[in-house]
Amino acid sequence: KRLTTWFETVLHVLQVLLIFAKEDNQSDGFWWACDRAGYRCSVARTPESALECFLDKHQEIIVIDHRNSRYFDAEDICRSADQEETSVLPLLNAGFDRQFMENSSITACYNELVQIEHGEVRSQFKLRACDAVFTALDCCQEAIEITSEDHVIQYVNPAFERMMGYQKGELIGKELTELPKSDKNCADLLDTINTFIKKGKEWQGVSYARRKSGDSIQQHVKITPVTVNSVEALLDAFLVFCFVFTEPHSLKCKNRRKDSTDVKSITSQSSDAPSLQTRRYSSMARIHSMTIEAPITKVINIINAAQENSPITVAEALDRVLEILRTTELYSPQLGTKDEDPHTSDLVGGLMTVSKISKDEITTANMNLSHSHLSVPNTINDVPPCIAQLLENEESWDFNIFELEAVTNKRPLVYLGLKIFARFAVSEFLNCSEATLRAWLQVIEANYHSSNSYHNSTHAADVLHATAFFLGKERVKGSLDHLDEVAALIAATIHDVDHPGRTNSFLCNAGSELAVLYNDTAVLESHHTALAFQLTTKDSKCNIFKNIDRNHYRTLRQAIIDMVLATEMTKHFEHVNKFVNSINKPMSEGSNCECTANITNFPDNQTLIKRMMIKCADVANPCRPLELCIEWAGRISEEYFAQTDEEKRQGLPVVMPVFDRNTCSIPKSQISFIDYFITDMFDAWDAFAHLPVLMQHLANNYKHWKTLDELKCKSLRLPSENN
Ligand code: AMP
Ligand code: ZN
Repeated sequence: KRLTTWFETVLHVLQVLLIFAKEDNQSDGFWWACDRAGYRCSVARTPESALECFLDKHQEIIVIDHRNSRYFDAEDICRSADQEETSVLPLLNAGFDRQFMENSSITACYNELVQIEHGEVRSQFKLRACDAVFTALDCCQEAIEITSEDHVIQYVNPAFERMMGYQKGELIGKELTELPKSDKNCADLLDTINTFIKKGKEWQGVSYARRKSGDSIQQHVKITPVTVNSVEALLDAFLVFCFVFTEPHSLKCKNRRKDSTDVKSITSQSSDAPSLQTRRYSSMARIHSMTIEAPITKVINIINAAQENSPITVAEALDRVLEILRTTELYSPQLGTKDEDPHTSDLVGGLMTVSKISKDEITTANMNLSHSHLSVPNTINDVPPCIAQLLENEESWDFNIFELEAVTNKRPLVYLGLKIFARFAVSEFLNCSEATLRAWLQVIEANYHSSNSYHNSTHAADVLHATAFFLGKERVKGSLDHLDEVAALIAATIHDVDHPGRTNSFLCNAGSELAVLYNDTAVLESHHTALAFQLTTKDSKCNIFKNIDRNHYRTLRQAIIDMVLATEMTKHFEHVNKFVNSINKPMSEGSNCECTANITNFPDNQTLIKRMMIKCADVANPCRPLELCIEWAGRISEEYFAQTDEEKRQGLPVVMPVFDRNTCSIPKSQISFIDYFITDMFDAWDAFAHLPVLMQHLANNYKHWKTLDELKCKSLRLPSENN
């Protein structure tokens, strides 16, 4: 704003010099015209006094009485003024060649003066302002570079020359891309900047640049687009600068400013003057490439770029997208408040959120989290025939885990584990004996609570079974390495070890030791993983990792931890969405592309597949044959009921009030669970792994719960079906 104001101030005191040997109607006409226009007017009667007056005041407009050369020669006056220190030439350029035919009407004189003011004089002011701005830039301590819209360098200040080690002659007229880049940057910075500049936005960031001497320097850079509409002072000045050069007499500027920018090139680039009002001028600080940028910033930049050429409706939709992206909880669906089914909100609230009750509401519950007794392992060198016979069917999805639970006296994990681990050559991979593996399975199983109706070792065996089944699917097999298979089987086995039969929310509300230990964050999942590694490594007899080298161990351990933590339900939507976006979508979009065959072989995608696999295995019970599905629903409901009972007993907040054994509709709760967590996830997993049998069971089971619900039945089966 300051410059604009400065223009205005100067314009208001525009000065006129009348050189008239004698006062007459014509000089009076100009005098009064100046008065009307608000100009300051001086009169000189002789060439000497005219020169003296001009050197004193530097009037912008000089009117010389040329009607009678008897008194003086107007051209002489100009010439003599030109020989003085201050050149009068610009002034001549501004108007001397105008001829005014004698007319003493004040209006005629006024019109003449005002036309001169609005034409040449104002242009001269703009040039002067421009000079002032460039003088300021020259003195500025910060390095400044100005480029044209197509990145041709127009100007660098001395600070820039000093910083980069170049002379301006080596830079001006060069394209930014011609200069050596710093290899510390990535390639697409210019794109990013262009996106900002095109939108008229300023870009700031840290980047590297290569100095002439070859070394890279880190710089904080601010890039400001110089737009026609900008009101900021510097921008105004530059706008003027561009504008002035499009005027025909702009070439004369070269004389005014010896080492000014390349006027000709600017003039030719800006020759499309009519479009000037809509055109944007880029002024860019020089950076050769990319700054260190977070992926989300890249996403936002891409959307910004897409908005650029989009119709308004799309641009507005993208604005809303940007708004959402700027929030942090990207993957957690927000439940609507009205008409929300309590089964859904309770499940989601209970499984997905850490309780937010205030501190003084918490009573420290006396949690009985004692580790299960490590009962003496039975000898399993010879698997009893009835168990062996059952296990023959282990590869089928319809395998009945509850029968195995019964015949193994609630130790299905050890038996199924031995069978499955052998099938996947786990002891070969780990280079451990079958005895170590057996001892390990026994220790892990012993640390599951058989008193939990759901989270006991049968659930672990069920998840192990599902994981092994998924690992057998062609696409999964083709995507993973042997190490991933081993990690997945171990993760499934340990994933709920020492589960207390209570949810994370309950533990947090109760201020349990575990919640305190893990800061109310992924409490159970952290505990399962940490305890499993403690149990494994504390005794060499059961340490299945003791013979693998350090690097293998670290990779394996990392994969196991990642998978068990992925079972935490607060991250459910994050994992499913990432899988869909990275695996399903590229698969369908690029199905003709040769590269799709390889798409799952990148480590990141392998991680997403493993996470999705254990998540699906963990909650696969709604995809089991109806009878098994019903049994699991009964077990999880019973565990939830027990939690509600305890919450009531201890005066704790009731995390999932619908799971009250006196009122709960199990069919409704299952419908909600399937609708909210299962359908989309299994659709995605089925699209990848091809699982028609599971999807068929899921549809049947869903129908079962729907039928019960329509008949207002709240239990697992119709009364007529109970035996
Ligand atoms: P995890 O504790 O690792 O077994 O995680 C799975 C989550 O899904 C647990 O919180 C279970 O309580 C929940 N869940 C699994 N199956 C069902 C089901 N059929 N109905 C309701 N919740 C379930
Ligand atoms: Zn589980």
